[in-house]
Amino acid sequence: TTTPVNVTVTGAAGQIGYALLFRIASGQLLGPDTPVKLRLLEIPQGVKAAEGTAMELDDCAFPLLAGIDIFDDPKQGFEGANVALLVGARPRSKGMERGDLLEANGGIFGPQGEAINAGAADDIRVLVVGNPANTNALIAQQHAPDVPAERFTAMTRLDHNRALSQLASKTGAPVSAIKNLTIWGNHSATQYPDIFHATVDGKNAAELVDQSWLESDFIPTVAKRGAAIIEARGASSAASAANAAIDHVHDWVNGTADDSWTSAAIVSDGSYGVPEGLISSFPVRAKGGKWEIVQGLEISEFSRGKIDASVNELVEERDAVKELGLV
Ligand code: NDP
Repeated sequence: TTTPVNVTVTGAAGQIGYALLFRIASGQLLGPDTPVKLRLLEIPQGVKAAEGTAMELDDCAFPLLAGIDIFDDPKQGFEGANVALLVGARPRSKGMERGDLLEANGGIFGPQGEAINAGAADDIRVLVVGNPANTNALIAQQHAPDVPAERFTAMTRLDHNRALSQLASKTGAPVSAIKNLTIWGNHSATQYPDIFHATVDGKNAAELVDQSWLESDFIPTVAKRGAAIIEARGASSAASAANAAIDHVHDWVNGTADDSWTSAAIVSDGSYGVPEGLISSFPVRAKGGKWEIVQGLEISEFSRGKIDASVNELVEERDAVKELGLV
């Protein structure tokens, strides 16, 4: 197709936005044959910086970049959007209660959901990156009753990629040798990176490592990687987060390979005992532009406990936003 695809990015002037926009414009989000029009959404204070980023995008002379528009009004920002990357969010400041954080984000993601409902294209696909991503995605989805619920997703691909990399370095195999790893649950410290169905060069991953490495090294390292990067870099993990967002949307649109799966937080159909309607991370494949949950995996008692703990946190977040009247 030569008709440009409209890609809306919120929080466009932020760190992740800066790492993301150039890759979208270069064709890495949708492929080398698809021109894109960028719609950058910011809060009013962010517009000037977004204009600066747009100047740099112009200066890259990307052949696939068919235009850039900048907005501070969600209704305009999501007009005609085919893909929406919701990156801008209210960060948790020191001493902020969870209820305050959820309320602040409800004020962002509720109106964005309404704007998507009102004006996005029929094929709109939404990825929420801004935290708490799963619950922000739920809020947006609940404000977009005319959009199929499964079009709202949240990002656990960075957790998935971190887990791949940790397992590769432990086993000495390249990441390309690892298949069928899963992140379950919430994009938070309770997430569960599951290697029991994963293979490394065709061998069961869990049999290549010992349980103590799994429990006291692998799982906490993956869950706390974001904090370790802030500690080392003095800034948060923006480039790897942007990379994971690209991976998520690219796979959603173009499909995943048959011989493996990936992880994404998508609306639950009740699979694996995850309450229907929650936006939770699952083992997924993409086919024909849709995510499908990989079915029939045997879940050990150890895994069950970890999945339940993370899913329970999602239930609590959902109940909290319900109580605040945000969904
Ligand atoms: P970043 O671009 O670094 O991060 C944006 C969001 O992504 C945060 O909520 C952050 O959560 C989340 N995130 C998810 N995964 C990761 C990860 N692996 N590493 C780091 N962050 C991750 O934030 P900035 O402050 O640089 O930029 C935010 C921009 O959004 C600002 O320009 C602001 O003006 C804008 N904004 C726009 C809104 C809108 O368009 N309506 C609304 C609110 C803000 P966490 O904080 O938990 O790390």
